[in-house]
Amino acid sequence: MNSVQEPVNTDNLSPNQSSGDINLLNFDRKGLAAFFVSLGEKPFRATQLLKWIYQEGAEDFNLMSNLSKSLRSFLQTNCHITVPEIVVEQIASDGTRKWVLQTRCGNRIETVFIPEEGRGTLCVSSQVGCALACTFCSTAQQGFNRNLSTAEIIGQLYVAQKRLGSETRITNVVMMGMGEPLLNFDNVVAAMNLMMDDFAYGLSKRRVTISTSGVVPAMYRLTEVCDVSLAVSLHAVTDVLRNELVPINKKYPLQELMDACRENAKIAPRRTITFEYVMLKGVNDSMDDARGLIKLLKTVPSKLNLIPFNPFPNSLYTCSSKDTILRFKNLLNDAGIVTTVRKTRGEDIDAACGQLVGKVQDKSRRHLKLKVIGSESAA
Ligand code: SAH
Repeated sequence: MNSVQEPVNTDNLSPNQSSGDINLLNFDRKGLAAFFVSLGEKPFRATQLLKWIYQEGAEDFNLMSNLSKSLRSFLQTNCHITVPEIVVEQIASDGTRKWVLQTRCGNRIETVFIPEEGRGTLCVSSQVGCALACTFCSTAQQGFNRNLSTAEIIGQLYVAQKRLGSETRITNVVMMGMGEPLLNFDNVVAAMNLMMDDFAYGLSKRRVTISTSGVVPAMYRLTEVCDVSLAVSLHAVTDVLRNELVPINKKYPLQELMDACRENAKIAPRRTITFEYVMLKGVNDSMDDARGLIKLLKTVPSKLNLIPFNPFPNSLYTCSSKDTILRFKNLLNDAGIVTTVRKTRGEDIDAACGQLVGKVQDKSRRHLKLKVIGSESAA
C-alpha cells in the first residue's frame, strides 16, 4: 500500500518515553533535575547543563567538561539539542526582524525581534496557528495545527539570540506571536521558567509577558504557578461586542475575566496588568467605549495599550483615525488610566500584531464549518 507517512514530532517526548531521542530543550530546571535523578544522577547536574546549553551555547556533549564521562556518553547516545531552523529572515526599514522558522516536523512559525532604544523585545509564538477565531486577527484566519513544544518555544529565543549575536541582547520577551499561550499551558510555562532562570536567560519577571485573550481558568492556574507580567487582549467593553470580536468571551465573559485579572494583580503590590485594545473604526472606538473602558479598568490596577489595527488581505475592519485614537487616549489618561498607543513596527514585512501567519495546515474543523454554513444559506 502506498501510504503517506505523517512526520512525528519527537520534541514532545518526556524522559519516560525512552526513545533515544530526547530533546533537552524540553525541560525547565525542575524537569531537568527530575530527569537526572531518574538516571541516578544528582539534581545539580540540571544547573550545569542549563549553563552549557543557554549560556555557553554548547551543542556537543563531549565538550561539557564538568560532567562525568559516562554521563556525557549517555547524553550523546540518548539526547540532543534541537531548535527550529531559520528558513526566511526579513529585516524591516525600522530594524524589526521577522524570522520564519521551521520545526523538525515541517511546521512553520514566525518570531519577531523589535529593537528599541535601550532594549530589544522578542515576540514569541506558542502554537502553530490559533484555535481562537478573533475576527480582526490574521493568525486566526489560518486555523490551528498544534501546540509548540517547550523546545520549540524556548528555541525561538535560542535561535534569535544566536542570529543577532552578542552585541544585540534580547532583553524582553512577549508571548504575543502566533497562538493562544494559555491553551498550551505546560509547555509555555516551562519555556517562561527557562527565560527567567538565572542559569538560562535570567530575564526578570517584569520583562517576560504573557498575553491572553482571556482563558479564565488558565489565568488562575498561571497566577498560582508562574509569576510573569500579564497582558489581556480586551478589545471591547460589552459582552455583546466582545463575543463577536473575541469569541472566547462567550465562554468566559467580561465579569469573569476581570475577576481573574484582579486575582492576578494581588500577586504583588504595585502590580499592573496591561490591557490591549485594538482600535477598529466605527466598531469599538466611540467616546462611549472610552467611558466604558474607564469604568472597567478602574476596578483593577491597569495600564492600557491601544493598538492601531493592522489590516491584512480580506480583513473586515479598518483602523480608527489618528484623531480618534488620540481623543480616546486623552480621555483615558485624563481619567487616570495610563494609556499608550502602540507604535506599529515592521509593517513593511508583515511583522506587526496579528499579521503573523506562518504556514498552517489547519486541523480545526473551522473551514469545514464555514463551508457547511455557506451551503446551508445558499440552499
Ligand atoms: N492569543 C493571545 C496572544 C496573541 S497576542 C492574545 O490574544 O492575547 C497578539 C496581540 O495582537 C493581541 O492583543 C491581539 O488581539 C492583537 N492583534 C491581533 N490581530 C491584530 C491586528 N490585525 N491588528 C492589531 N492588533 C492585532
